[in-house]
Amino acid sequence: MDIEHIISELTREEKCALLVGFDHWRTYPIPRLDIPSIQMADGPHGLRKEADPVDPLQTKTIASVCYPPAVTLASSFDPEITFQVGEAIGKECRKEQVHVLLGPGINIKRNPLCGRSFEYYSEDPYLTAQMARGFVNGLKSQQVGACIKHFALNNQESHRMVSSSIADERAKHELYFRAFHDLMDTSPEMVMCSYNKVDDVFASENIPLLKEVLRDEFSFNNVIVSDWTAVKNRTQALKASLDLEMPGNPDSCQRILADLSSGEITEEMMNDSIRRLLTLIQEKRHNQPIEVDMNQQHEIAKKAASSSIVLLKNEDQILPVKPTESIALIGMLAKSCRFQGGGSSHVTPYKVDQLIDLMPQGVQYQFAPGYTLTGDGLNHQLIMEAAALAKTKAKVILVIGLTDEYESEGYDRSHLDLPLGHQVLLEKVASVNPNLIVICQMGSPIRMPWISKVKGLVNAYLGGEAGAAALIDNLYGKENPSGRLAETFALSLDDIPSNRRFAKGNNQVYYQESIYVGYRYFSTAKKRVLFPFGYGLSYTSFSYADLIVPDKAVMPQPLSVSVRIRNSGTLFGREVVQCYVRNPLETCSRPICELRGFKKISLEPNEEKTVSFDLGSLDFSIYHPDLKKWIGISGIYDIAIQKNAEDICLSRPIQIQFSEDYPTPEKNQLALSYTVSGGLTFSDQDFSTLIDRPLNQEHIHRARPYHLDDEINDLAHTLLGRLLKKIAVRIAWKTLKRSGTASRKAAEKSVGESTPRSLVLFSGGKIKLSMMEGIIHLCNRHFRQAFKQFFKGGKS
Ligand code: BGC
Repeated sequence: MDIEHIISELTREEKCALLVGFDHWRTYPIPRLDIPSIQMADGPHGLRKEADPVDPLQTKTIASVCYPPAVTLASSFDPEITFQVGEAIGKECRKEQVHVLLGPGINIKRNPLCGRSFEYYSEDPYLTAQMARGFVNGLKSQQVGACIKHFALNNQESHRMVSSSIADERAKHELYFRAFHDLMDTSPEMVMCSYNKVDDVFASENIPLLKEVLRDEFSFNNVIVSDWTAVKNRTQALKASLDLEMPGNPDSCQRILADLSSGEITEEMMNDSIRRLLTLIQEKRHNQPIEVDMNQQHEIAKKAASSSIVLLKNEDQILPVKPTESIALIGMLAKSCRFQGGGSSHVTPYKVDQLIDLMPQGVQYQFAPGYTLTGDGLNHQLIMEAAALAKTKAKVILVIGLTDEYESEGYDRSHLDLPLGHQVLLEKVASVNPNLIVICQMGSPIRMPWISKVKGLVNAYLGGEAGAAALIDNLYGKENPSGRLAETFALSLDDIPSNRRFAKGNNQVYYQESIYVGYRYFSTAKKRVLFPFGYGLSYTSFSYADLIVPDKAVMPQPLSVSVRIRNSGTLFGREVVQCYVRNPLETCSRPICELRGFKKISLEPNEEKTVSFDLGSLDFSIYHPDLKKWIGISGIYDIAIQKNAEDICLSRPIQIQFSEDYPTPEKNQLALSYTVSGGLTFSDQDFSTLIDRPLNQEHIHRARPYHLDDEINDLAHTLLGRLLKKIAVRIAWKTLKRSGTASRKAAEKSVGESTPRSLVLFSGGKIKLSMMEGIIHLCNRHFRQAFKQFFKGGKS
């Protein structure tokens, strides 16, 4: 394929067509020039391919192996595991002729309430990037393209299509952009922009974000694709160097053509995007389908789940369970496990393992459901039956968690608690049998006011379709749990600094906590947590010795540190060795410690291994908001080997010297509540100093005249808007039910917070833009314009 020649042969119309999808999942084919389509499909924890690519309602997806979602994989702290999962999904993509998988999702977990937390890896950008790197390389090993998403600052589901995320430059670069930056060395085939606005401009049209940061600063020269329906104005998006609008939409082609004729955009701008798209097409066009052994894939899903299980409590060594102990297996989730989240990532699984079917042979157990899977699950009769059963057995394995309707793409949680029925059941069972092992299935942290009543606590997160099999192996000691938390479990929502400004409205989302997200906040502020980042137990124990750190390092010379770890227990086990840099705090506002390296190692009893970490300039740098670049900070640091963000095993000081010393950011010095001595209280005034502008309203009550990019909920203040919402919810609800995802709540929420424009774009041509414009005119009581619009729509 001679790309330059093809570009010279393409007509303007064909170029416009290439810049916009052909249908919901494919790029535009141009057979006359032998240009095939590129097929995309959702992931990221399995292949979600529509059985019928032109069905806009996406009612049926093919069966594919459901691997553990990112939240779970991250707890493996093992990029080799994400590689294997990426490779396995890559094989299924090849089998199904999918060229680019829409994943991984690498947004930072700013707040545990985010409905899509299960799709993201961590609160820490380094861990996120390392885990996602494995996944991307795994896909690429099968010549399947990766699409890292959602760029950027898409950290909540509420109002995601209309709200504007506003963070200071340090937070953007040190946290939210960082994993995207770090993954550039894998050369991902695509970056997907997010729905939200960043600094009041939609990400899809955001020149500072896409052009200045992604293209210029990060040198990204592959395809930027829109999130589905995220483009409002195709010309503005092209100016921001967004190459591909998805899904297909003829109105956009018309718009580009018109703006080309008027000189608003040039053909050269289009050619830049076409060149990137053709390069991708050229790379992927010869991918041939391959055979895949789905049972083997299922085993990979099991291995990944097994490496990710986090043992949180093991009093009196209640775990592992002995096969001779009689068991009360309680909780409906043991029979119908929750193994993935809802929304666009939802996979139709190949086969699903259930705990109840996999109890080891010979184990004496009986089952009681204890709660229902709908609403708060509370059912007193089921609780009484479960308690009666619990009394009669040596140990109780109680499976509880967040059910489907608690977490999904499209909406956020409003609290950190388990469904009421699960809590009441736990209390009751604990009162009759002290040998209680609790297993939690959920996609994000919960509050555990009941923790003192349980002896064993296992966080299984969402284990994918083979999660139950992996759990049994870990409960019965065939495997030794080795997962670590990739996010902090706070004691309460009020302790989380982002909470004050999380999901509060449809206008501004202020990231007022700046760089103090997750453990960066808790360890710096010395605030108690339920479980710190990096936490996890094992059935064996490990000892640490001989941390070797040079006294001094002059940057950018490479710096290597090493430490010796021994399995001091009696069982084979895996340890996650975590290396943190502990920052000097006198020069500027910084977190007290940051994860800069980790390695997962396997050790037989008494075996020891030496682990080393290479550190570099960036590990001792901050992003300077005024100079707009990373600057090294000279000083005395500590290199610490820690069990988790709070527990230091060994640490040694090192003097870090940079050749050039820059003044610390002025804004930081002015914003006193961002220093440790100021107590990390993050005042409005100081945040306003950091972002260089006054704070605005978080929520705006929108009224007539309504627009295409307002929320459907706003339009629903009118009679016609309400009718529109009702019909759209009904269709979405039917779709979700048929595809087995989430609930009516998901349909209500996601439709209510979508926009009239996105309904048009999702409809795959069934609703015309002009028709929707007409409806909006009617809602605005602009009857003449409405009439004209319908008339125009009729003609087009
Ligand atoms: C999601 C993306 C997804 C896309 C296609 C969007 O709603 O935000 O993550 O890839 O839909 O399904």
